[in-house]
Amino acid sequence: MTSPRRLLNYWQLHPKRQLGQNFLIDPSTADMIVSRSKINPGDIVLEIGAGLGALTIPLSRAASSVYAIEIDQSLTLLLKAELDSHGIENVTIMGHNILRTDIHEIMEMAGSKLIVFGNLPYNISSQVLVHLIKSRSALKRAILMFQKELARRISADPGIKDYGRISAMLQSCADIKSIAEVKASQFFPRPKIDSEVLEIIFNNWMDQFVKEEDLFFNVIKAAFSKRRKTLKNALGTSAYFQDAKDAARVLSSIGIDPTRRAETLTKEEFAMLSNAAYEMRK
Ligand code: SAH
Repeated sequence: MTSPRRLLNYWQLHPKRQLGQNFLIDPSTADMIVSRSKINPGDIVLEIGAGLGALTIPLSRAASSVYAIEIDQSLTLLLKAELDSHGIENVTIMGHNILRTDIHEIMEMAGSKLIVFGNLPYNISSQVLVHLIKSRSALKRAILMFQKELARRISADPGIKDYGRISAMLQSCADIKSIAEVKASQFFPRPKIDSEVLEIIFNNWMDQFVKEEDLFFNVIKAAFSKRRKTLKNALGTSAYFQDAKDAARVLSSIGIDPTRRAETLTKEEFAMLSNAAYEMRK
């Protein structure tokens, strides 16, 4: 594959910062990531942000087919030409915004659950994760590249400063493991921080222990919306409790000290809390 700089030059394009465009330079890095993700020949892959095809090409060789989502219409033309020049025929390019893409629809088109793959645009990584969590019944697993800071937050345990809304949400429905690290120098243009590739394997913990998923997510969001405040104060101003006193009463009734902070709550405690809020609303 031609280097991203030369390819963009040839097409008279420039990387767009607002779309989080940082292209992988070295095909052997792309090969390494794809090989560590153990894609099977029968797998169908949904790639988010295909860009110039650095990952799309090795993915198309490892999987049975690839749906490649790319929002930037000037890149989809380039990508099409790039894939054609490699004689690749099992990739469907979709000029879509992933955040507005119905993943279940693609699963139905594909006829089986999907493996999501992507070097995510860093500015929408968290939003993409939330979208994937909500669409997880259409997914087998996800292999995603994040800037290191976000990867650390995703994997952080309760009680640690990095633990937040996205950690609690994702850890409630998936097992997460790190499969590779990629240096900032491996991208054009070069970002400020290194990246990490995480494998996210969805499980059924949340389906088992959480009574209403949206409420669970909303309670987590409300608890972390004012991280510095105590739980009773953060939750007291949310739609789910009348005031801080009401929140304190519910928290105490399930054995959670109302003066704790959101970042100390385990997923089990968030589940108890949202289940209690659910019972109250009935
Ligand atoms: N996979 C390529 C490109 C990664 S850069 C590589 O590793 O080299 C991230 C890509 O996501 C860019 O091509 C960018 O245009 C695309 N992108 C940004 N926002 C998007 C969105 N909302 N939906 C789909 N693609 C998006």
